[in-house]
Amino acid sequence: MQLNLTGRSVLVLDGSAPAAVTVSALLHRCALVTVAAPAVCAALEDLALRGRLTWVTTPVDESRFDVVLRTVAPSEAGSAAAVRTAGHVTLVGAGPGDPGLVTVAGRAAVKQADVILTDRLAPWEALKWARPDAEIIDVTKIPYGRSTSQEQINALLVEHARAGRHVVRFKGGDSYVFGRGFEEVTACAEAGVPTTVIPGVTSSIAAPELAGIPVTHRGLVQGFTVISGHVPPGHPDSSIDYAALARTGTTLVVLMGMRNLAAIADALVAAGLDRNTPCAVVADAASAGQRVLRSTLADVVADTAEAGIGAPAVTVIGHVVALGPAAVQAVATASRCSDT
Ligand code: SAH
Repeated sequence: MQLNLTGRSVLVLDGSAPAAVTVSALLHRCALVTVAAPAVCAALEDLALRGRLTWVTTPVDESRFDVVLRTVAPSEAGSAAAVRTAGHVTLVGAGPGDPGLVTVAGRAAVKQADVILTDRLAPWEALKWARPDAEIIDVTKIPYGRSTSQEQINALLVEHARAGRHVVRFKGGDSYVFGRGFEEVTACAEAGVPTTVIPGVTSSIAAPELAGIPVTHRGLVQGFTVISGHVPPGHPDSSIDYAALARTGTTLVVLMGMRNLAAIADALVAAGLDRNTPCAVVADAASAGQRVLRSTLADVVADTAEAGIGAPAVTVIGHVVALGPAAVQAVATASRCSDT
């Protein structure tokens, strides 16, 4: 796709998972995308829920759009011949969202795959590297919405590998950082299916970095702690000692924490962390929709609500936030919205 699509309106008349690959590429190039289809795959629904695209179920006036795409053919290279051996599952950590942040090994695995199971936070645009005949299965879990259960995902991995296929499990960030990757590897091992794991660039480090925030900085902070905010402090399922966390002296990075941010901030302040501690929220990192908000522990909840910033987002708490935006743009930000 070589056209300059920044700000151009594009109508896509296809809601399938292969169409989502093309839509992802369009969004990466800052196009204004409308999908008109009676039904869409979960990943497209998720993008619509997050306001990244407009989804309509009724016919629209096509003359209002700069570009209309009817049949969607996502495959770009697609000629890599798979080396066919016994079935196999490869977990690919696909990075935070920019296809440029998929590893070289991850890209090679995508090119060779017969079947790719992917979900919403993985860079769908990168699936243009897949063979034209590869099957793309959308196993998106929309938070508090439509989802494919982990048991179904495990069963699909095993089923396809047992049928002799090369299966790629394409996951956002790194598969072992809140990615349930080890559950999938274990399920495969129990079923006698061989697996390979390709590490990925985790959003816990990349999202702050793309916002100009280093998670460590010599002379300022000697470590960082990554936690899940999926359950609030004090919840029976929470195993995090917030009092200890408040004393670590490390940068705190919270994933899946937007819904419980108020409770998390309160628990940290109650445990003695200075309420003026600098804090940043980085949403939709490594995408054209990336947003960064800088605040303090005391004000971060009100400020994010006012700015309308929501998940997926990483919250960074610590003095590294006050170092200021890096003078040099990170590589993925620099390439965004360009056609190169
Ligand atoms: N395995 C992933 C994390 C999965 S948990 C990784 O290593 O990055 C999902 C959470 O990751 C989201 O709720 C959000 O906190 C964070 N996240 C993933 N991708 C993100 C992105 N592009 N921008 C901001 N946060 C992201």
